[in-house]
Amino acid sequence: TPVARPGREAPRLGPLARLAPEPMKVVLNWGRRYSLWVFNFGLACCAIEFIAASMSRHDFIRLGVIPFAPGPRQADLMVVSGTVTDKMAPAVRRLYEQMPEPKYVISFGACSNCGGPYWDSYSVTKGVDQIIPVDVYVPGCPPRPEALLQGILKLQEKIAEESTADRYSRRTSGGTSPAALT
Ligand code: SF4
Repeated sequence: TPVARPGREAPRLGPLARLAPEPMKVVLNWGRRYSLWVFNFGLACCAIEFIAASMSRHDFIRLGVIPFAPGPRQADLMVVSGTVTDKMAPAVRRLYEQMPEPKYVISFGACSNCGGPYWDSYSVTKGVDQIIPVDVYVPGCPPRPEALLQGILKLQEKIAEESTADRYSRRTSGGTSPAALT
């Protein structure tokens, strides 16, 4: 079962957050949760399951998820699917930072959750959450497309509860700095 990470602290209020009345939260969150442009960061076998989830049989577009954003600058959600190597980690972090706020991350599969079968490899990052904050973890090796659908539903539940302050002030609260990765 996909696991949602507890909400992060929201240290700063952006100007829009200060202006938006709390009832607007429902409307803003409704729009946000059903218009998630996805940037698929496919790194290994799990990426194939992501592609399967986007095709007609599973069809996650019906959940309001738009697959294959042209790039990180057009995306709201990054799905990291596959094995993150230490060599690839700086690129993952860099592309995450190019995404506009508010942005979300789903870690899809055992490899991106914790290193998976390569947990003792010298070259594999033991969880993408070491370099970027993750909102939902989907377990499995590989997870089935249905698991991704459930993970997306979990994320949408989380977005529905997000406060206005969270939305406009989310910043990476964990992970290693890009400088430390290079
Ligand atoms: Fe491949 Fe399993 Fe790793 Fe997914 S979790 S990328 S299926 S080894």
